[in-house]
Amino acid sequence: MPVEEARARILADLRALSAESIPLADAYGRTVAQDIVSAMDQPPAPVSAMDGYALRSADAEKMPASLRKIGVSRAGARFSGRLEPGTCVRIFTGAVVPDGAEFIALQEDATEAGDVVTIREVPNKGQYIRKAGLDFGKGSVLAAAGSVLTARLIGLLAAAGHASVSVRKKPRIAVLSTGDELVPPGGTLGADQIFASNGIALASVITGWGGSPIDLGIASDESDVIAAAAERARDADMLVTTGGASVGDHDLVQDGLRQKGFVSNFWRIAMRPGKPLMFGKLGDLPVISMPGNPVSALVCALLFLRPAMAKMLGHANTDLVFEKIKLSSALPANDRREDYMRSQLTIDSGGRLTVSASKTQDSSMLMTLTNANALIRRKPLAPPAQAGDEVDVLRLDQLNTL
Ligand code: AMP
Ligand code: MG
Repeated sequence: MPVEEARARILADLRALSAESIPLADAYGRTVAQDIVSAMDQPPAPVSAMDGYALRSADAEKMPASLRKIGVSRAGARFSGRLEPGTCVRIFTGAVVPDGAEFIALQEDATEAGDVVTIREVPNKGQYIRKAGLDFGKGSVLAAAGSVLTARLIGLLAAAGHASVSVRKKPRIAVLSTGDELVPPGGTLGADQIFASNGIALASVITGWGGSPIDLGIASDESDVIAAAAERARDADMLVTTGGASVGDHDLVQDGLRQKGFVSNFWRIAMRPGKPLMFGKLGDLPVISMPGNPVSALVCALLFLRPAMAKMLGHANTDLVFEKIKLSSALPANDRREDYMRSQLTIDSGGRLTVSASKTQDSSMLMTLTNANALIRRKPLAPPAQAGDEVDVLRLDQLNTL
């Protein structure tokens, strides 16, 4: 099965989760559930962008001008009178501009003596006056449904007075690692054992993509044990397993899941790394079974779990971003599997972005993934490519955030 079709099948089985209202202060990284429209103008009234003096148009016609200072307008306490001919008001940044004033003279261009202010020059009419609604107006869409609450967006919503926000519930993703050889980091390795890295790496991407990982630990390569562990995922929104998904005698994830009524949608895709990827449902619970090799697991997470979580979070766009970038070194022809090659994006001496594939691509090698910053996608049966040819590139920073 082609990668695109596999992804489409997963997405077709998923729905956006329900919404909940939470304090804005807790909303960083969450996804907005409904469009948020401003109920106010910001600023609510015209305010000064500078410290200086507010004056009428007629008094700004001839410079220098000597005007009588009749009051002060500062942020939080406006001058409530009216400007009369021949007068000005001392004004500070963020203060409401008095009625009748259309010019703000900068304080550097004025001298005060008693209550007389001599203004040497004025900027253009209206300059340094922030009109009501300059930033955003009543009725503006501040955040579209599906937006991620960044620091900027949280600031914007706070500026519009929102103390709480309706967000999608966090997808709860249960993660089960399988393999007799696995020992949790911090444990002691016995003969023929290795430390388990997939569970913790997947929990990290799940957190970064706005989900709540649920650690189901490590199951041994026994279908009963896998079945019992899967049972503990029943109230999650999705189960992700790693390892045991191939065709070896000890690849028992499918058997274990079937004991609990798993119905497979597809198994095995035309992709490298990640060929034994499996997707199906355990009752209502969507299950993605990933291969055990650590690079395969993270690449599959990027290509399938990330779009799946984006869909559960109600994002309008679940697509990964591929860029066309020129190769700095040649690539051989590809076989029938779509290939995702760890690679380095670098800026050459001419300031142009180029990409080259890492020398070794073995899917057990987590360090080459850590040292890569992108994946080159090679379509099935792609012909050899030369330095200078454009290839499709997926930046690995998409592992960090949605
Ligand atoms: P499997 O898919 O079970 O055949 O595993 C493929 C390879 O990935 C084997 O070399 C496993 O030892 C390794 N592997 C499986 N699960 C993990 C894990 N959680 N952390 C690190 N390596 C793993
Ligand atoms: Mg295994």
